Parts: sequence; structure tokens; C-alpha cells
Amino acid sequence: MLISLKDALEFGEKNGCGIASVNTPTLEMLVAAIDVAERYGVPLIVQHAEVHEPVNSIENIGSAMVELAKRSSAPIVVHVDHAESFDYVKRGFEVGFNSAMFDGSRLPYEENLRITKEVVELAEQYGGRGVEAELGVMPGREDGEHGNNAGDASLYTDPELAHDFVAETGITALAASFGTVHGLYKAEPKIDYELITALRERAGVPIVMHGGSGLSPEEYRKCIKRGVQKINYYTYADKAALEAAKKLLVEEPETFVFSPLAVAARNAVDKNFDALVQCLYADYLKR
Ligand SMILES: [Zn+2]
Repeated sequence: MLISLKDALEFGEKNGCGIASVNTPTLEMLVAAIDVAERYGVPLIVQHAEVHEPVNSIENIGSAMVELAKRSSAPIVVHVDHAESFDYVKRGFEVGFNSAMFDGSRLPYEENLRITKEVVELAEQYGGRGVEAELGVMPGREDGEHGNNAGDASLYTDPELAHDFVAETGITALAASFGTVHGLYKAEPKIDYELITALRERAGVPIVMHGGSGLSPEEYRKCIKRGVQKINYYTYADKAALEAAKKLLVEEPETFVFSPLAVAARNAVDKNFDALVQCLYADYLKR
């Protein structure tokens, strides 16, 4: 069933969980994500990022996301990830996504504020959908010249600015920069835990972790305790899919059609998401 972003985050807060928010640009990843959510009966967020449009358009994969979420026995949020424009959010809402992130973090503050407000208004017009926005710059692999600049505190989110931003926009959740990095880690992530506490307190809404791949279970748990209730996760699952497909090609070089590779990839993603859910929902699953 579809549930709202707000309800999923409240489940996280109540039960000491980080809600897994996984990108599913291919059907293999989507099916794996829904299967894992059903296996454990926990809320999960499936999301599609604008940057993955070349893999599948939001209209194509998004229709499958919305349909599988509605049919699922598990509570699922269908979320637009890193929309770079108002129009992309709208495309997602038209498909049936019930939540969206507008990423104006690289825009000047006033412009980020203005467009985020418009996105919140749009979400209201669509019957009250969830909105995530971002403050502070999250480094990624594309920032080649900086290499892996985890720990560059000048990029971190300011809690006072976070307070003003949330108060003015009325967003549901805030993506913030506190030491994680998009993509693969080239060096150890340096997470500022005190900053997470300050951000959660001052912002007054759950904090979203981007670049959630590659942290240790202990690091996840510490972040969750301090107020991170949405954990974006993608790269390591997609990498596991590739490794599984490669392994199959080496072990069975006579493979002459594509579908067995898709199955191997799906099984590998399932295993990867299963481990993630066991980690992020540990306190809830122990009961
Ligand atoms: Zn992100």
C-alpha cells in the first residue's frame, strides 16, 4: 500500500529506525526492494532520481513503482529523488509519486528557498504530498577536482539556516550535509554526529542522509539515534548487481541471452537490500 512520507518518517522515529530509501532505476531493483519490504513488513521508500532518466524515464519506471507499491502488502512511499526543477517534481506527481525531493542545494540560498516553497505549494495542490529539500552541499563522485571531500566542514549545513529554511518552506524532511558523500567512498566518511543533533533540533523535521551507501552498521545506528530517519541508498546495491552479472558471465560463458543476467542482478540486489533492512530496522525487528 502507498503511505505518506510523513507516516513513514514517524514510524522511523517511533521505532528507532532509519527508513530505507532506495533508488530503483531498473525493474530488477524495484522488484527486489518491494520483495524485501514485504519479507520484513516494514515501510520502505522507492525513489527515482532525475539523473537516472537515461536508464528509465520517470513515466516508465515510475508507473511500475506506483503500481507495485499500491499492490504491495508492505507500506511504500514512492518518491522523486533529486529533482533539479519544479517541472520534474510535477512529472513525478502526475505519474502518482506521493513524495518528492527538490534539490536546489547548488542554487543561491534565496533561489533554493523560492523554488522549494513553490514545490511545497504544488504538493498541497496534489492533495498533500511529501516534500524533501536540501541545504548544504553534498559532495559526489562528480566533484573530481576535490576527490572525496568528506569531512570538508565548510560544506556542512548550518543548523540556524536549517531552522529558517524549514520554517519558511514547510517541508516534510530536510536533506543535510554532515559528512556523507554520494557514490563510492574513496576514504573513510567523517560524520559529525553533534551536527546531526543540532540540525534535528533546530530544523524540527527528520533529517535525510544522502550517500548512505558504505557506512558501517554502527555508523547508521548512531545517525538514526540522533534524528536521521530517511537513509538514501543506491550505489552499493547497483554495484552488487554488476558484480553478480559479471560473475555469471565468467562462470557460464555459454550464456547467450540477457535475462539470466537480469535475474542474477535482481538476486544480488535483494541480498544487498535485505542486509540494509536488517541493519536500519534492527531495533524494530528485535521485538
Ligand atoms: Zn542524494
